[in-house]
Amino acid sequence: MADIIKLLPDHVANQIAAGEVVQRPASVVKELLENAIDAGAETIKLIIKDGGKTLIQVVDDGSGMSETDARLSFERHATSKINRAEDLFKLSTKGFRGEALASIAAIAHVEMQTKPEEAELGTHLKIEGSKIIFQEVQVVPKGTSISVKHLFFNIPARRNFLKSNQVELRHITDEFHRVALAHPQISFHYYVNGSELFGLPKCNLRQRIVHVFGSKTNQKLVPVQEETQVVKISGFINKPEFAKKSRGEQFFFVNDRFIKSPYLHHAVLAAFEGLVKPDCHPGYFLYLQVDPGSIDINIHPTKTEVKFDDEHTLYAILRSTIKHSLGQFNVVPALDFET
Ligand code: ADP
Ligand code: MG
Repeated sequence: MADIIKLLPDHVANQIAAGEVVQRPASVVKELLENAIDAGAETIKLIIKDGGKTLIQVVDDGSGMSETDARLSFERHATSKINRAEDLFKLSTKGFRGEALASIAAIAHVEMQTKPEEAELGTHLKIEGSKIIFQEVQVVPKGTSISVKHLFFNIPARRNFLKSNQVELRHITDEFHRVALAHPQISFHYYVNGSELFGLPKCNLRQRIVHVFGSKTNQKLVPVQEETQVVKISGFINKPEFAKKSRGEQFFFVNDRFIKSPYLHHAVLAAFEGLVKPDCHPGYFLYLQVDPGSIDINIHPTKTEVKFDDEHTLYAILRSTIKHSLGQFNVVPALDFET
């Protein structure tokens, strides 16, 4: 029988990878914001037009890239963040897979302007469907600006699957909240269709939560603090009387990365048991710092799931820490919800 297996060309492989990394405009926003943070940016601008369908742009004042790196950054598995497999268990960066820019450039029109601080001139590069349209030397500010247009231009099925601008914008804003809450030390500006939706100065965590969710939030917050050998927990929970029917304000961050964890969520609910009505959801902003060697983030391309070495211990510590905070702030159980 004749041999029939062949290696896929890069642009096809990139497009396949993109299917996992880029579900919708909000996924692009997440990847670009995370790259800006990894680049050490102090100020990050997010610019969105028409729910991300017309424009997604992220501008940072971070490290920037050399001319060669600017080109290489769009190759698959090209990353400056890890060198060896062992590094996966010492991660201090958001990125490490080296596939976001390659994936995005495979399914959109992308333009990048970038310059390291010390360089006199920067690079302007345009790439569409993995094809370089041009790359030239240009006078550009320090840092990196990446704009993404015509997302899914070559995948009609994905493009047609996009929801209304309003729905896509809601997903983008959720992503923005998560990143902004994880990094109060970074200043963020978020523009939608030409007007500024959020201008967040560099501040502390309480101030950042209040800036994002409004001044009424301040009175709801109860601080949470605990440090053990396994985990350092900080952040806030909302007082139980502010529990809502919707699940909006529930955030877990592990080593400054927003994650979803039904298991840890359950630990929080267990601590609130008897304090909130069964159909209401307590708000929380919880930050866990653990040894990077004790977790695995490389479970899913979007990196919103984490595998913990010792989940059970974490559960117990989290639950008792929150109970303690609730107790300290004289939050007493309501006697009977039915009356
Ligand atoms: P990863 O973040 O997993 O390394 P990406 O595809 O997102 O993969 O980015 C590839 C590389 O491009 C990064 O490792 C980094 O060196 C560089 N890069 C991407 N975005 C920026 C940025 N905003 N500023 C500086 N360097 C960047
Ligand atoms: Mg990245």
